[in-house]
Amino acid sequence: MLNIKDLSFWEKSLYFDDLDFTIIGAGIVGLSTAIFLKEKFPRSKILILERGYLPSGASTKNAGFACFGSPTELYDDLSKISDEKVWNTFSLRYEGLKTLFELIDAKKIEYEKCGSWDLISKKEELLQDDFIAYINEKSFEICGVKNIYKEDKMAIRNFGFQNIFSTYSNSEEGTINTGKLISELYKKATNLGILSLFGIEVKTFESNGKEVFLETNFGEFKSANSIICTNGFAKQFLDDDIQAARAQALITKPILDLKIKGSFHYDAGYYYFRNIENRVLFGGGRNLNFEREATDKFGTSEDIQDSLLHLLQTVILPDTKFEIDYAWSGIMGIGKDKSPIIKKTNNNVAFGVRMGGMGIAIGAEVGKSLSKLF
Ligand SMILES: Cc1cc2nc3c(=O)[nH]c(=O)nc-3n(C[C@H](O)[C@H](O)[C@H](O)COP(=O)(O)OP(=O)(O)OC[C@H]3O[C@@H](n4cnc5c(N)ncnc54)[C@H](O)[C@@H]3O)c2cc1C
Repeated sequence: MLNIKDLSFWEKSLYFDDLDFTIIGAGIVGLSTAIFLKEKFPRSKILILERGYLPSGASTKNAGFACFGSPTELYDDLSKISDEKVWNTFSLRYEGLKTLFELIDAKKIEYEKCGSWDLISKKEELLQDDFIAYINEKSFEICGVKNIYKEDKMAIRNFGFQNIFSTYSNSEEGTINTGKLISELYKKATNLGILSLFGIEVKTFESNGKEVFLETNFGEFKSANSIICTNGFAKQFLDDDIQAARAQALITKPILDLKIKGSFHYDAGYYYFRNIENRVLFGGGRNLNFEREATDKFGTSEDIQDSLLHLLQTVILPDTKFEIDYAWSGIMGIGKDKSPIIKKTNNNVAFGVRMGGMGIAIGAEVGKSLSKLF
């Protein structure tokens, strides 16, 4: 394979000479960061390097929920994390979605404010009325919308669920088309003159404060600044609280007269499903084996796929004939702390990683924050 040092004058000068910013990773964060930087520094030369022939982490693998917090997820978080941190993250997600729609036309990525429902299996799992009142009060302070969360028993019949005691609806959440989001971000970046190269993996980099020297699978080059947006793979470059976490999903074949319309959470958000066209996209189950799923290797596992199938048969599509079409996985970046890491480790190197299961909501805002560091 051709090494960077063997490129022609034209190739070198187009892609590798006089680089102002090199961004590693072409997911939501990498692309958003590049766009915000180009808007801030229109004359800058920006190169995005992605090691996959497609973005190969989570941004083209996810379920497409534009969500900021279901009642059982908030309850779970509030029992483990401080109230202040939980509501800061809630606010980051809510405001982050606004930033995303400033960057990309919501219609082009098929954004639908379809609402979401949090499924409760047993009476004992119902949340206290005063907890729902509390999250409504806090969310009103952040979003300015009253009574976002309501108990909705009718949803069970409307969507045809079984073995569900009740649901909580959230009027403000929605869904997007994940593929179109990445495609629109890429188009916008390209139209702004941002360069992207796929199939190039950064192995190491070193900064002397003025320049960053990057070593790749195709040789070396230098850039004035570098921003690492490799999320679940960041441990390679960053000694911080970040760990890879594999998330698995499946999709059914099209289903005639599918009742399910909207986005749904189950088991404190560890499972999630939605309709897409006439199919059900269903993900989750990482909590069945956190340790094994703490990996940056793609792949699916039988127990998780079985649990997804079982929940489809007994809860989600109990009276419906369906077939699984295929399954896949993606790699997320998580930590003990649910908030993202946005920081400079040097005056010309920054990291924007640890998006957890909320990159759609916060990815663009993280990109904006990274651009402000330069
Ligand atoms: C199955 C699944 C469902 C999800 N559902 C949702 C959801 O509904 N809503 C939501 O908000 N979030 C969801 N998420 C999480 C969301 O997808 C992520 O938070 C988000 O995509 C992270 O974006 P990113 O740009 O930080 O990382 P990524 O999209 O992972 O991008 C990082 C990129 O860096 C590249 N890279 C890594 N190392 C190198 C290297 N050394 N050199 C060059 N390139 C490199 C990778 O190939 C990758 O493309 C889900 C995730 C998964 C896996």
